[in-house]
Amino acid sequence: AVVREEMDAAGAHEVLMPAVQPAELWQESGRWDQYGPLLLKMQDRHNREFCFGPTHEEVITDVARKELQSYKQLPVTWYQIQTKFRDEIRPRFGLMRAREFVMKDAYSFHSDAASLEHTYDEMAATYQRIFTRLGLTFKAVEADTGEIGGARSREFHVLADSGEDALAYTEADDFAMNIELAPVTPPTTDRPPPTAELTEVATPGAGTIEQVCQHLAVTPAQTVKTLLVEGAATATGATPPLVALVLRGDHSLNPLKVARLPGIQAPLKLATPEAIRQAMGAGPGSIGPCKTALRVIADYSAAQLADFVCGANRDGQHLTGVNWGRDLPEPETADLRNIVAGDCSPNGNPIAIARGIEVGHIFQLGDKYSASMGATVLDQNGREQPMLMGCYGIGVSRIVAAAIEQNHDERGIIWPAALAPFSVLILALNSRKSAEVRSFAAELYANLSQQGVDVMLDDRDVRPGVMFADADLLGIPHQVVVGDRGLGQGIVEYKQRGSGESRELELGELEGFIAAQVAAA
Ligand code: ATP
Ligand code: MG
Repeated sequence: AVVREEMDAAGAHEVLMPAVQPAELWQESGRWDQYGPLLLKMQDRHNREFCFGPTHEEVITDVARKELQSYKQLPVTWYQIQTKFRDEIRPRFGLMRAREFVMKDAYSFHSDAASLEHTYDEMAATYQRIFTRLGLTFKAVEADTGEIGGARSREFHVLADSGEDALAYTEADDFAMNIELAPVTPPTTDRPPPTAELTEVATPGAGTIEQVCQHLAVTPAQTVKTLLVEGAATATGATPPLVALVLRGDHSLNPLKVARLPGIQAPLKLATPEAIRQAMGAGPGSIGPCKTALRVIADYSAAQLADFVCGANRDGQHLTGVNWGRDLPEPETADLRNIVAGDCSPNGNPIAIARGIEVGHIFQLGDKYSASMGATVLDQNGREQPMLMGCYGIGVSRIVAAAIEQNHDERGIIWPAALAPFSVLILALNSRKSAEVRSFAAELYANLSQQGVDVMLDDRDVRPGVMFADADLLGIPHQVVVGDRGLGQGIVEYKQRGSGESRELELGELEGFIAAQVAAA
């Protein structure tokens, strides 16, 4: 309801598109094969091919090319709230990454870039309002456009330690990016001069950076790791040579950055252990950039090292005191790694890292779909132009899981008011034994319901301890405990799930108090 209200307020029109989509549309856009195994494909009784929609760019572009003829009909934004299916390789954490889930997806159509930019900004503001109203702590970050394609994109993340994504941001300015995308700026200082001799040392059984460091009593930042990836496929079809990537031992490879480099196979493909042995004469744990005919690309930080440790290209052997330009050629350098806390933003401010759960994603698609699918309108001069598009997703069901990640304690869920399935929970203690409790609770339930309060009544025949534990587990914001003894004294107990604060209320003030609590949230 919150998503719908805010989308309506932003001027978007609600529609409902088919969940099952014909293959022809996806063949037109080129995604029938490109989308890969995530796409659930099926056939009808005539053996025609369909998919269950993982997203709706193709369908909406088909609608648009039929409905829109003139620039005068633009801009327009359509949205739906609907079940999507993605054959996820690793569905997990229930609603967090499900194969079937509910998404709000919106699509906008424009006759020029300024109009697209305007709606994109408006959607960003709408998302800010939605996630704020839902009581979530979140961050918007610039993001990779992935296989949906297009120019600009921004993700909205609910902050939680269990989040799958790492976000790089600064306190000092408005820099905020998914680490998939965040650039690491090259160092501005000179590399220190060599001081150590090149030495080969035996490191039996040490295959990981950690083991090598332990063996040689050095830190990971004094070592490099070498990863071999496949070169870009050539026109002749001959197997392209592998490329050696060199990173500081404490850094991690960023596959998206590397795949964008010229001459590298995209998406990135790591070399097999057999191919590594063939190219380097050693297993993956003992390889290094010295004495190799392969193209070597060093990450800026790895290229900055002097007297470093690397594999010797002989099993169980490493080299220490290695220096670029002396013991091996100066490397080609590039940004190959994920940004880390302490790196600098482009403005020179220190980067911090937070973890997030992606709950929303907005894109500027440009003419990616309208050009391939022929969705054109006549412009002011009567010429046919492909429309420009934006698309805007919210993981409605994922929000539920993300909200719980962010709002819980050891006893269970603490629902933010806007997301709570009920506002008030009445616990009728031992109601099977007490006619008084039964009738008081039923009357309270009826009265609050009549006032429009969303209320749930627990009148199960279970012990009070079980009822209290379940109430905290379910996390309904306001609990009203109705018991025999209290009623005898003219009182009931009220407890707020979030703060844990409780108080006794006189029967006369009860309904007014509860209504006020619910309204205040
Ligand atoms: P992810 O990177 O998490 O796989 P995505 O980038 O592929 O997501 P989009 O195509 O941007 O997802 O879809 C819009 C929104 O739908 C996402 O921001 C996310 O909140 C939600 N979503 C995507 N996949 C799932 C899923 N398998 N289960 C639940 N929600 C999902
Ligand atoms: Mg996304």
